[in-house]
Amino acid sequence: MDQRMAKRPPESLFHLVTDAWTKPFWDAAAEGRLAIPRCADCGAFRMPPTPFCPHCRSQGLDWVAVSGRGTLYSYSVVERAIVPDMAQAVPYVTAVVELPDAGGVRLITNIVDAQIGDLTVGAPVRAVFDRRADGVAVPRFVLDDAAP
Ligand SMILES: [Zn+2]
Repeated sequence: MDQRMAKRPPESLFHLVTDAWTKPFWDAAAEGRLAIPRCADCGAFRMPPTPFCPHCRSQGLDWVAVSGRGTLYSYSVVERAIVPDMAQAVPYVTAVVELPDAGGVRLITNIVDAQIGDLTVGAPVRAVFDRRADGVAVPRFVLDDAAP
């Protein structure tokens, strides 16, 4: 079994730029909450947020706080540093996490603080928030013992 720990990608590779559609997600993350956009008219979750609902074309949008519990839908272990700044950050895990209490929307994220060999598709995960020096809180996920 691969007992190496999943690390975090280096902060220097991630510069946050928000707009009117993404700012509520990052504002919630800064408060330690995972918020997902939901159509104000038909209730369909939509992530990433879009100007029009793909189901009913409404522009109404509510940001709903969800539990942060989900399942590991897919993942990839990044083994090689493609730029020198990444050398101390590998291996890290890029993942797709499905959120059952947000209509099954999926987030592209990282799995952290887990042994690589413990990762399996379908594993329960929960959100954690990595606070950076610039005030940004990055939602990532850890393996969770409890079912989502
Ligand atoms: Zn809708």
